[in-house]
Amino acid sequence: MKKRVTLTFPQRTIQMPVTYRLAKDFNVASNIIRAQVAPNQVGKLVVELQGDIDEIDAAVEWMRSQHIQVSLASREIVIDEETCVDCGLCTGVCPTTALTLEPETFKLQFERSRCVVCEQCISTCPVQAIATTF
Ligand code: SF4
Ligand code: SF4
Repeated sequence: MKKRVTLTFPQRTIQMPVTYRLAKDFNVASNIIRAQVAPNQVGKLVVELQGDIDEIDAAVEWMRSQHIQVSLASREIVIDEETCVDCGLCTGVCPTTALTLEPETFKLQFERSRCVVCEQCISTCPVQAIATTF
C-alpha cells in the first residue's frame, strides 16, 4: 500500500538519513514529494511511503520515537483568488518565499513547491483568503 505523510523534523534530527533507515530497517520505500528546510532549521518532507501496512505502521512509530512529527495526511495551503486583494501582507511572514507579489502586476503569486505549510500566512491575511485543505 501507499501512504502519503508529512514529516516535520526538529533541528537535532534534520541530518538523520530517514529514508535509508525506512528502507533498511522497515522495508518501506519512500518517494519524496517535497522537501523544505525553513530558515529556523525546522525541516519538512512530504513523502509517499510504500510497503506492507504493518511495516509502514512500524516505520511511523519509529519516526515518532525519534521525535519526528508524522502527519498522516498532507495538508496543503489553499488561496482563494476571488477573496485575495493582493495586499501582500502574507508575503512578509512567509519563511520560504512561497508567497510573493509579482513585481509588474502586484498580484499575489503562490509557489506551492516552496510551501512548508507552516500556516503563518493564514492569520496574517486580513480577508481570510488563506486556508488549509483540512
Ligand atoms: S504556509 Fe504560508 S507562510 Fe508558511 S510556507 Fe506556506 S505559504 Fe509560506
Ligand atoms: S494577505 Fe491575504 S489578501 Fe493579502 S495578498 Fe495575502 S492572501 Fe491576498
